[in-house]
Amino acid sequence: MTGATGIIADRQFRDRMCGIAVGKVLFDEPMSAHTSMGVGGRADALIFPDTVDMLGELVSFLLKEGVPFLPVGNCTNLIVKDGGYRGVLISLEALQGLEIKKKGEGAVEGRDGVGVCVHAQAGVSFSGLVDFSVRESLAGMEFCAGIPGSVGGGVKMNAGAWGREMKDVVASISILDAVGRMRNISRRDLVFEYRNLDLPDGAIITGADFHLARGDRGAIRERISEIAAVRRERHPLAYRSAGSVFKNSPGCPAGKMIEEAGLKGLRVGGAEISEKHGNFIVNRGGAKAADVTVLIDTIRKRILDERGILLEPELQIIGNEP
Ligand SMILES: Cc1cc2nc3c(=O)[nH]c(=O)nc-3n(C[C@H](O)[C@H](O)[C@H](O)COP(=O)(O)OP(=O)(O)OC[C@H]3O[C@@H](n4cnc5c(N)ncnc54)[C@H](O)[C@@H]3O)c2cc1C
Repeated sequence: MTGATGIIADRQFRDRMCGIAVGKVLFDEPMSAHTSMGVGGRADALIFPDTVDMLGELVSFLLKEGVPFLPVGNCTNLIVKDGGYRGVLISLEALQGLEIKKKGEGAVEGRDGVGVCVHAQAGVSFSGLVDFSVRESLAGMEFCAGIPGSVGGGVKMNAGAWGREMKDVVASISILDAVGRMRNISRRDLVFEYRNLDLPDGAIITGADFHLARGDRGAIRERISEIAAVRRERHPLAYRSAGSVFKNSPGCPAGKMIEEAGLKGLRVGGAEISEKHGNFIVNRGGAKAADVTVLIDTIRKRILDERGILLEPELQIIGNEP
């Protein structure tokens, strides 16, 4: 029995979709098995294209059939509502290319004209990229240590920490646009905002070039260890979460406002506002997406009432109510 609705529940449609060699296909897939928070209803389909060409074929097929779709990375900033997602979630996890580009291979130089250009496909994890940088003695990616996302999701979110963001290291990105064309966009044409990269509607990031500098491997390792230690001290890493729930407002971090409102420790179902860090909601076991969204609404209302500030979620919430 499937919970999929509309065209995706149709066997002939499924056969046609599987027939275009799209890579691994999971129908009616519980997203709680994929989100870092461990919550979320079923996606009609979760598909893992093996190559960029397969991704292109899949997107063309879905556009032609009129099926909604959305790219996902490591699902570490994502809440899928308990009613699930009606359409296809496309995971780029299988796109794992990672290499240093040589001059003359289309390498994009940084603003200062020196450095090394690393190309990573969208499915490469930040931990993989950070490890690669250490192996190659490349400085610049250290701030990503401990961010559990992927290159695709991280660039889209303009992920950042310790005063640095993706915008400081991205030299160009490749996208598949909404009509199924591959395009490269260089840094000067990219509009990065706080925790967002403004992309053309429907664009999927397939990879990015990063501008890094030759550095000292020991110093790079040391900086990463420092960052890991601070993360262990400040973040509730013993529980599943989706990272920071809200964007920080100018002047006062969201976590501090939540702490000062006395909301730390507040629990709804299996979800709890972390005792360790006010801007994290953690899954204490058996949480539903609705438990998380009730906590989010409660925090927003309280901070609005007390301070006149409407907190903006950093988490991406998708899907339907049950
Ligand atoms: C313990 C913990 C600590 C964290 N610390 C930080 C931190 O310090 N700084 C920080 O910025 N974030 C942090 N995060 C949040 C999260 O890891 C980052 O936002 C990360 O970059 C998201 O990447 P992802 O691959 O998981 O994206 P997902 O969560 O899968 O997706 C996020 C968004 O990007 C879109 N997207 C995904 N892939 C693509 C693509 N290929 N093309 C276009 N759009 C795409 C999705 O549709 C969604 O809207 C933390 C999370 C956790 C759980």
